Parts: sequence; structure tokens; C-alpha cells
Amino acid sequence: TKHFPVRRRAAELLSRRRRAVRAVDDVDLVLRRGRVTAMVGESGSGKSTVARLLSQLVHQTAGRITLHDEVVDARRGRRFRAHCRRVQLVFQDPFASLNPIHTVRYHLTRALRIHHRDGDLTQGLHDLLTRVSLTPPEQFLAKYPHELSGGQRQRVAIARALAAGPEVLLADEPVSMLDVSIRLGVLNLLRDLRDRLHLAILYITHDIASARYFADEVLVMYAGQVVEGGDGEAVTQRAAHPYTRLLIASAPDPDRIAGEQTEDAAQAGGEPPSLIDPPAGCRFHPRCPHAMARCSTEAPPSFAVGDNGSGHWAACWLYAGAGS
Ligand code: SF4
Ligand code: MG
Repeated sequence: TKHFPVRRRAAELLSRRRRAVRAVDDVDLVLRRGRVTAMVGESGSGKSTVARLLSQLVHQTAGRITLHDEVVDARRGRRFRAHCRRVQLVFQDPFASLNPIHTVRYHLTRALRIHHRDGDLTQGLHDLLTRVSLTPPEQFLAKYPHELSGGQRQRVAIARALAAGPEVLLADEPVSMLDVSIRLGVLNLLRDLRDRLHLAILYITHDIASARYFADEVLVMYAGQVVEGGDGEAVTQRAAHPYTRLLIASAPDPDRIAGEQTEDAAQAGGEPPSLIDPPAGCRFHPRCPHAMARCSTEAPPSFAVGDNGSGHWAACWLYAGAGS
């Protein structure tokens, strides 16, 4: 396989209520071009922090992020802008991310200029809108955000991200605020961009059903750590970790694509722990129906599960000695 563009390992410390909180701990993540990696977890599991780290909106206090083998540390202006050109974010709320007093033309023109993608501006705008299926483009350029539907606004936000000509797209809950009926269209657009622009996409979601629908690889986060990962179909059809099984069981209808599951529904079966003082051993042990004595004292390493080719693994003592 091709060399992946982004890799990060280990921890980040955030200061909250004057106490150090390790929001993400020992997360090892590889994004590859032409692939969608889904990161699934409840709110507060640290998944948005991963996106903020990769985009360098916040900075790691330990660990390493690399892009094509180069260490990323974009704290300063020029390097931050160069990083932004390659790694773009799409947020959950397209209304909040677009300025209500500016037209679509203004948003996209500005993005093209910031990233020094001069060329023919009219053609550039035309291409961006066509790429996100807002056609005919002329019809959308003069519109203000409030004149667009939620799905159209998210398409404008995606077009703006594409204006930078990125290699990596970080999409943090990009459809969770949209009507169920239009979610699939936006996910299909992201998949189309993965293929046509050969983008590496990190899809962050609390909805494992949508991850099942379109991710090539799935990582499940719990309490700031990745607890299961591997080929998307293996993880969602043959979930190994008890937490992943809980997520699937609490989804309203596991076969439903991009369903109406709310973050509350995903939280059925207890609350995720505080990251200020996470449980010892396996962080999931207070909620786990299979917890054994060692689970409350020893943190489980990753064990291979299932077929060898799927790269499927779970950090759970149930699989100690199961794989090889
Ligand atoms: Fe449950 Fe133990 Fe596995 Fe943690 S390590 S998920 S507590 S069985
Ligand atoms: Mg979040």
C-alpha cells in the first residue's frame, strides 16, 4: 500500500478546571489516500480531539503526527497555513461554519485566494460547485446560507474545504445535524470525493450504522483510547470488543443506514468515564458484562481477532491467546 499521509501516536494534555486531562491517549491512527477511516464513539470519547490535533487547531503535548514522513508541528502562521492546505476540516454544523452575511461566491472565492489557487476564478468556482453537485453553479453562487437547505450548506462547506486542494479531509459528524433523508446523499458525496480526488477521509461519528455503510476501516474509541479497529466490514459485522457490541446493540436499527440514532441512544448502558480520573485497567470494565478480575487492574493490549487479512484487533482480555 501507499504510504499514509497522517499518523499520530500517544497523548495530549488539556487543561480543564486546572487539572490535566488526557483527552486522547495512545491513539495510533493511519490515514491513507483513497480510503475512508471511520472513528466511532460516544460524545466525550476524544474523537473530535483527534480531528483537532490532526488539523493542528490544538497541539499535542506528547506523541507525533507525520504527513508523508515529515513531522507536523504547525504552531506558527506560515506552517499552519501550509498544513491547512493539505488537511481540511468539515464540521458538524454547516450553518455555524458559514458566515450568514456572505454569499456562496464570497466564501468560495476567499478560500481559493487564501490557498493561492489563482487560475481562472470563474472556472474555479464552477468546478468546486460541480464537484459537490450544486448545479447549475450560477444558481448557487449568489445565495446566502439561509437560502440553502442544510444539505446544500454542508455541500458548500465541503466545497470550501476542497478549495484548498487537500489530501486529507477530516469530517467531524458531518451529517449528524442534517435531516435523515439527506444524510445518505452527503455520505455518498464524500465517498465520491474519496475516489475521484483520491482523498484520505477521517469520518468521525457516534453512529456506527453510518460507519458500516461507507468506511473502509473502522476504529472504535472509548474514553480517549481506540479499543477496536480493522477492516470496516469485519469490525461492524463481527464486532469483538464488548463496547463495540454495546454500540451496535444500542443503535435503533443496525441495518438502517445513517439512522436516527442520537448521541443519547448511543449512551445506553451507562455513562462513559470521566477522563480526569479514568478507571484503572480496562477503562470499560465498570460497564462491561464480561469483566474479569484482571480487567480492573491490567490494561489490555491489542489482540488480533478474526481473519488475518482483515487487520482486525481488539484491546480486550477476552482475546488473550486467541489470535496469533
Ligand atoms: Fe470487558 Fe475485560 Fe474486555 Fe475490558 S478487557 S472489555 S472489561 S472483558
Ligand atoms: Mg465531538
